[in-house]
Amino acid sequence: MPAPRKFTKFREVQAEIDKNGAALFVDKEGVESLIIHSPYTIHYIHSYAEDSAFFLGLASGVLRGSKCSKASCGFVYGTPRGHCMVCGSPTTWIELPKEGRIHSWTTCHFGGEAFLKETPYNLAMVEFDGVGSLLLVRLKECTESEIYIGMPVEARFEPKPKYSITDIWFVPKPAAASEKPRRG
Ligand SMILES: [Zn+2]
Repeated sequence: MPAPRKFTKFREVQAEIDKNGAALFVDKEGVESLIIHSPYTIHYIHSYAEDSAFFLGLASGVLRGSKCSKASCGFVYGTPRGHCMVCGSPTTWIELPKEGRIHSWTTCHFGGEAFLKETPYNLAMVEFDGVGSLLLVRLKECTESEIYIGMPVEARFEPKPKYSITDIWFVPKPAAASEKPRRG
């Protein structure tokens, strides 16, 4: 087996271990460190606790938000919360519309392992009629240049749910001829 190749730039070390499994990193003092890949996997036993109804909803094609239980407040959350941020009262579950509009969005050119296959991908903050806060979701079936603030979007649900936020995403909703972007 040939000796690992030497590099002085860590970026080159990373490329080398991706390719050949090992490299020697030579620092400014001339110290040579053997660098290898050491993958590991951790399975967390994770409880969704009071958020459980949200993920159970996604698995059955229902998008749930929450609503403040205090009559004089009644704030509606697009990202569910156990307690109201305005008045501190407990909230109750509600079903959100499956259609909304793009409030803001970004295109991610880097992503975690779960998203590498679809990188670059689009993330959007979606707003709903009658709802006071936004929902952060992936936006699919459109390119970066097609997205605009106020674009009507509708929900899609993962047919094989994994009880994860990736069980839902939004796609552009074909606008009726009379509809115009609310903002732009
Ligand atoms: Zn409240």
